[in-house]
Amino acid sequence: MYDRYTRREILRLGFAGAAGLALTKLAPAQQRRATEGRVKNIIFMVSDGMSAGVPSLADELGKLVRGKGSFWHQLLQSPDATLGFFDMASLNSLVTDSSSASSSWGSGSRIFNGQINVLPDGTRLTPIAHIVKQAGKKVGLVTTTRITHATPAGFAAVQPKRDDEDDIAPQYLNVVDVLMGGGLRHYAPNRRRDGKDLLKTYQDAGYAYWNTREQVLSNARPEKVLGLFYDSHVPYTIDHINSDTLRRTVPTLAEMTRKALEILSNAPNGFLLQVEGGRVDHAAHANDAAGIMWDQLAFDDAIEVVFEFVSKRDDTLMIITSDHGNSNPGLNGMGAEYQESNKAMAQLQYAKCSFEELPNKLRSATSADDVRTVLKEQLGIEINGEEANALAGALKGNLPPIWNRQHRNLQGLLGEILSNYNGYGWVGTSHTADYTWITALGAGREEFHGLIRNTDAFYKMLKLFGLSHKNPSMTPEEARKYLSRAPRIRTEDWA
Ligand SMILES: [Zn+2]
Repeated sequence: MYDRYTRREILRLGFAGAAGLALTKLAPAQQRRATEGRVKNIIFMVSDGMSAGVPSLADELGKLVRGKGSFWHQLLQSPDATLGFFDMASLNSLVTDSSSASSSWGSGSRIFNGQINVLPDGTRLTPIAHIVKQAGKKVGLVTTTRITHATPAGFAAVQPKRDDEDDIAPQYLNVVDVLMGGGLRHYAPNRRRDGKDLLKTYQDAGYAYWNTREQVLSNARPEKVLGLFYDSHVPYTIDHINSDTLRRTVPTLAEMTRKALEILSNAPNGFLLQVEGGRVDHAAHANDAAGIMWDQLAFDDAIEVVFEFVSKRDDTLMIITSDHGNSNPGLNGMGAEYQESNKAMAQLQYAKCSFEELPNKLRSATSADDVRTVLKEQLGIEINGEEANALAGALKGNLPPIWNRQHRNLQGLLGEILSNYNGYGWVGTSHTADYTWITALGAGREEFHGLIRNTDAFYKMLKLFGLSHKNPSMTPEEARKYLSRAPRIRTEDWA
C-alpha cells in the first residue's frame, strides 16, 4: 500500500488544497462561516512522548530495517500539509504529563498534571467525546497503551487521579463507540479491585467484546466494540515483531486504526477518532532508542492508513502530533567530522528486544562478562569492560557515580553507556517542555498553522464540527492556592 503514494502523487492529490485556495479569496467573516461546521470527521493522532529527534531518525531507520522511509516524512513535503506546533504546558508546570496534555485538547482547559479533565478546585470539565456524542457523532479511541490510560482518557473521561484506571474503565460506556487497545485488567472481574464484570456491562449495552487479532482482521463491523488485546499495555513493537505468538494474536496500531475507520465511517453524522502510539513515550522514559523507533514506525503505518481514508474525502481532518517531548533523544555528532554518526545510528537495526524485555534476559547475568554477552546478543552492541562492570554493579543495586540525577538509575546508566555506540544522547528520563509538532491534512487544516496553545485545539475542533461549548478554566495565579493538593504520585510511574 505504501507504494501507492510516491512523493509526486502526494503533491498531486491536492484534496484539501482546492478548498484552501477557495477560502483565501473570501473575506474573513465569510471565511469563518465557511469553516464552521465544514468538517464531518476528525482523526486526532498522537505519538505520545515524541521528541523532535524521533520522526527525523525514524525515517532513516525505516529505510534500514524495512526498506522504506517514513510515510509522515513524505506527507511533510506536501503543500497540502499544514505545519504547526503545540505549546503543551500544563497549569502547574512547563512540563506536562499525558493526562493534563490530553485534557487540554479534550476540554480546552489547562489543569494540574496527574488529573483528567478536573480543575484544581474539583470542577469537572466536559470532555469533547461527550459533546460530539451529544451532537449525534460517533467516537473512537485506539491506542497501544491501556485504553484507560491518560491520553485516551483525556478525550472522554473525568477523573481526579489518572492512576484510578478502574474508575475510568466504565466511563466510556455509551460515550465511546469504538475502543481498541490494551487494559483488560481494568474490565475483567478477576482483575478489578471491586470484582465487577465490565466486559458483561459493555456487552449488555450492545458492545461486541473483542480480544483477538483475528476479530480485528475479520469483515465484522459491529456498531460498538470494546477491543482489549492485552492485560496491560500492548507489547512494544520491537517485541511484537520478534515473537510469532504476539504477531499472530495482537493487532498492530495500523490494523486497529483501519478497523476503527471501517466502523466509524458508517456514522451518518460523522465521528471523532483519537489514535495514540502510546509506547514511544514508555521507550523514551527507558532511554530505549530501538524501542522508540520501532513504535514510531508502527505509528507511521497508522498515519498511512488514516491518510488513505482522508485523501478520498473532502469532509475529514487529520491531525498528527505529540503531547510532549520525552528524554529528547538526539543523534550526536560522532567521530572526526561526525563521520561515525550514520554508522552509530545504524546499530539500532540489530536490536532484538525492548528494555521491558531486556531485564528478563539480564536476570541470569551474574558477571560483567555475562552482561556484555547479553547486550551483544540482544542489541548487537559490544560495550567495554569498564562499562560492563558498571552495569553488572548496577544490576546488583550499586550504581556508579552519575551526576545527572535523571540518569541515576539502571535505565539512565544503560542509556548513557549505549550512547557511546549508537550515538543516541538523552537529556534525562522524563518528559520535557518542548513545543510538539503538528501536521494537519484535509478539511479545516489551516486552523492548525503555526504555534498553537494546546487548549485551542478543543475550540478549533468544535468550531470545525459546527459545535460550541465553553468549559471553565483557571489561571496559574488562581490555581496557586491549590498546589499543595496536586496529586502526589511518583512521576517515574507516569507515562
Ligand atoms: Zn511519559
